[in-house]
Amino acid sequence: MKKNTTIIGAGLVGSLLSIYLAKRGYKVSIYERRDDMRKAKLSAGRSINLALSDRGLLALEKIGLADEIRKISIPMHCRFIHNVDGTTVTQPYGKEGQFINTVSRATLNMRLMDLAEENGVEILFNHK
Ligand SMILES: Cc1cc2nc3c(=O)[nH]c(=O)nc-3n(C[C@H](O)[C@H](O)[C@H](O)COP(=O)(O)OP(=O)(O)OC[C@H]3O[C@@H](n4cnc5c(N)ncnc54)[C@H](O)[C@@H]3O)c2cc1C
Repeated sequence: MKKNTTIIGAGLVGSLLSIYLAKRGYKVSIYERRDDMRKAKLSAGRSINLALSDRGLLALEKIGLADEIRKISIPMHCRFIHNVDGTTVTQPYGKEGQFINTVSRATLNMRLMDLAEENGVEILFNHK
């Protein structure tokens, strides 16, 4: 029989890891010090989007979430630099045609929490 497992923090990493462990048969509890962000009043906040690379998408692919997240992602081909002398320059994130994917951090986190709970993970909010 698989052991009980405790994860501290229901952020991106904790939520994702909990799904992988639950799928392997572990009974997982997550302790999250904040409120459940899915129940909080929505506000745009000050969080910047997350940039997902192929590696991030692969992690989501294995739990069946990659296609859904791709649909709400915006391709980002390069970084745009404003130099002090007023000139600008672009720095590509990859070779021609390659890009990283910018996605709402909160949306991704909430979907990961949903999926974790669907897989039997218990998330204890307001618990340090
Ligand atoms: C400004 C900024 C921009 C970034 N941009 C990118 C990017 O574009 N792409 C990228 O891949 N990475 C980016 N990162 C890094 C990325 O944010 C982190 O790699 C990722 O959020 C780490 O996930 P995490 O779950 O470990 O941490 P977090 O998402 O911070 O989650 C940690 C969770 O643990 C909870 N917690 C902490 N302590 C306790 C405790 N004692 N008890 C209970 N709960 C606790 C917190 O409330 C939180 O919910 C960025 C980071 C910053 C700061």
